[in-house]
Amino acid sequence: MVALSRYVDEAGKPQLAVMEKDRSSTGPPRLCPVSALIGPQAAEEWVRDDAFCDRSAVRLADLPSPREDQWIDAPTTLLPPVGRPEKIFCIGLNYRDHALETGAEPPSEPIVFSKFNTSLVGDGQPIVLPCISRRVDYEAELVVVIGATARNVPAEDALSYVFGYTCGHDVSARDWQKGRPGGQWLLAKSFDTFAPVGPCVVTTDEITDPGELGVRMRLNDQTMQDSSTAQLIFDVPTLIAHLSQFVTLRPGDLIFTGTPPGVGAARQPPQFLKPGDHCTVEVDSIGRLRNPVHAER
Ligand code: ZN
Repeated sequence: MVALSRYVDEAGKPQLAVMEKDRSSTGPPRLCPVSALIGPQAAEEWVRDDAFCDRSAVRLADLPSPREDQWIDAPTTLLPPVGRPEKIFCIGLNYRDHALETGAEPPSEPIVFSKFNTSLVGDGQPIVLPCISRRVDYEAELVVVIGATARNVPAEDALSYVFGYTCGHDVSARDWQKGRPGGQWLLAKSFDTFAPVGPCVVTTDEITDPGELGVRMRLNDQTMQDSSTAQLIFDVPTLIAHLSQFVTLRPGDLIFTGTPPGVGAARQPPQFLKPGDHCTVEVDSIGRLRNPVHAER
């Protein structure tokens, strides 16, 4: 039914907002604060602890449609739509062509790693290149937002545990990802600002099938990645079923589903992010996640 965003209002408080349905236009998107629709107190309960993602607690279907005079222009920066996910899962090498371009065999089971939630930033917020890396790369991804507690869920039922979907950018310091002791990836993927997500979460009644969504990365004016979730080795239901065998998934948890071919490290010559770059992740039916690239000071 809706696309939901979060932003900081003039009083410095985080607000949950409905994002206008036509999100593909080039102008700034319009928002309607949920507080205008259901009152400030109820809205505060929805935004606290990301409770709006919990489908057992919040009935989004009861949300009234915004009136024309309730829309406001979105601020230039948004918060990540989910503020404090308990867990952030990421899936490595999950597009067949991307696995091949890295020189790896397509995996026989999902490759799972994580990011800390301190790496989250929203639309418009900068990606900060750390002083200790020289090889920071981009990865456009579809991100799943969990909407119900899930444990040992069969793939056939898995989509009923999804709250919605957003765009994600799995920023990756290749010099800390490759060739480190034990093959560890966690820190390479978890620098502050290395998990842009947004601009909104689109709920599952709008995206009933996440299996055929175009996923693109534009670096400045150049399209670097352009594929579809139809190319996923392990699709969204399979990932939820797999992960829920190990850990309890909870509302607000995020799953970065993997990136298509075209990453900078696989190019000849390699092309890494530099200060002044602008990254845009675009996923069909969701919108565009834009982040400028800054140097660490
Ligand atoms: Zn990734």
